[in-house]
Amino acid sequence: MKRISDPDQLAEAGLVPAEKLEALHRVASRWAVSITPAMQARIDPADPADPIARQLVPSVAELAIASDEREDPIGDAAYSPVKGITHRYPDRVLLKPTHTCAVYCRFCFRREAVGPGGESLSPAELDAALAYISRDERIWEVILSGGDPLILSPRRLGEIVRRLDAIGHLGVIRVHTRVPAAEPERVDAELVAALRANKAVWIVLHANHARELDEPTRAAVARLVDAGLPVLAQTVLLAGVG
Ligand code: SF4
Repeated sequence: MKRISDPDQLAEAGLVPAEKLEALHRVASRWAVSITPAMQARIDPADPADPIARQLVPSVAELAIASDEREDPIGDAAYSPVKGITHRYPDRVLLKPTHTCAVYCRFCFRREAVGPGGESLSPAELDAALAYISRDERIWEVILSGGDPLILSPRRLGEIVRRLDAIGHLGVIRVHTRVPAAEPERVDAELVAALRANKAVWIVLHANHARELDEPTRAAVARLVDAGLPVLAQTVLLAGVG
């Protein structure tokens, strides 16, 4: 099984009917598509209401955009003093080093910003983002988000974690990710080692349906927990998925 990243592959996998392909190409040209083999294996193509497909298979309904919908629905832009940083509350910031994800969720509130073409922070931009965090001693917690930070190579992820670990006033590094469920094999010894720090590191797994917590996901979570990295979970309440 290979990663699905365009509507033709969706049709080949029996996940969309051929007559919808033209419209789905329009959807996919605007909002990225990615379904990993692990996620595809959890989909029953015969079920038109499959809860995993509902999260990840693009729909023609996405093209219907109401006049009051906004490209930045949670208002990140107003709280972004430096590229890659969202600073909404005094004691914590989001640091978004990449806009790439393992899967692209159809409900994502950052869907205009994420995708394979989305820029990662350049080395100079990352320096500026880390300098911003270093300057503000009120900041106690950094939440690595994106995109999905666990899509970064262990080398790049490890460098960011090490540099955050060196900022004296930080107490917590939190990592929000869908990777342990979406691409469990990515959570290998090298990636786990990249997350080690002297500060408290918390991993927050985003999973929305019990089917995502199968044996490969549980093994990936166990590799993190066994390395001393506590794993929490967050779930988005979605119609037709719970
Ligand atoms: S993994 Fe997270 S950031 Fe990426 S598309 Fe899904 S919800 Fe959005």
